[in-house]
Amino acid sequence: MKIERVLAPNPGLFTGPGTNTYVLSDSSLAIVLDPGPVIDVHIEAIEIALGGLDPIAVMVTHTHRDHAPAANILGQTLGVEVLGYAPGPEFEPTRMLTNGQVVTLGEVDVVAIHTPGHTADHLCYRIADVVFSGDHVMGGSTVVIEDAAAYMQSLKLMAGLRPAHLYPGHGSRIDDVSVAITEYINHRIEREYEIVAAVRSGAVTSEDITEVVYAGVDPMLQAAAQRQVQVQLVKLVEEGRLETSDDGLSIPST
Ligand SMILES: [Zn+2]
Repeated sequence: MKIERVLAPNPGLFTGPGTNTYVLSDSSLAIVLDPGPVIDVHIEAIEIALGGLDPIAVMVTHTHRDHAPAANILGQTLGVEVLGYAPGPEFEPTRMLTNGQVVTLGEVDVVAIHTPGHTADHLCYRIADVVFSGDHVMGGSTVVIEDAAAYMQSLKLMAGLRPAHLYPGHGSRIDDVSVAITEYINHRIEREYEIVAAVRSGAVTSEDITEVVYAGVDPMLQAAAQRQVQVQLVKLVEEGRLETSDDGLSIPST
C-alpha cells in the first residue's frame, strides 16, 4: 500500500498547517481520505496525486468543514462511492459505514473504527498496523471534543489497537503512538483534576473555571475553551465528582 499526503491550503487556529488529505493506493486502485474543504487548487492537487490510479471511493473521518465538504463533489467527478459514518452539514454519504466494516482496496482491508468524542460521527480507519486518526488524535496539538466520556473511551480503544503509526488529519505522522495516546489520556485526566480543583477553590460557573484552567488562552480561543470546560463538566457531573444546583457547581458532600 502507498500513502500520499496532499496538504490542503487551509492553515489556521484549529487546523494547524492545514487538513491532511490522503491518497491511499494499492494494486493501482485508490481511495481519497478526507478531501477537505472545497478549494479548487486543492481538488486539482488531489486529482494530480491520483495520477493514473483508478479511484474506488472517497471517504471521510468525520463531517467537520475542514474535512468533508469536497467529498461529494470529488465523488461525483470521479464517479465513485462517498463513504462516512453519517451525513453532515456539507456531506451526504452514498453509503454509510459502521464500526468494524471493511472497505477492500486492492490487497488491503481498510477497517472503519467508530471513535466518537471529537464528534459523534468520527471514524478512524485501520490498515494493518497503521491508523488514519482524523481529528481523534492529531499531530502536534490536543483535540477539541464534544463528548468527554466517549472521547476517553475512544482513546483507550485506539491504545488497545497498538498501531505502529498514526496518520492524523492535521500535523505530521505519529510514530510513538502509545506515548502520544498516553499523553492525550493524561492531558484529559489533568484537565479534570484542574476543573474539580477550581470548583473546590470557589469557582461556581463554567466561566469561572475557564478563567482559572485556561488562564492566558488566546482570546480567539476563549469561547472554544469555555465550551471545552462545559463538555468536561458533563462527564464530571455524570460521574458524581461535581454537583450542580441553582447556586452553581459544587463538590458533592460524601
Ligand atoms: Zn474535526
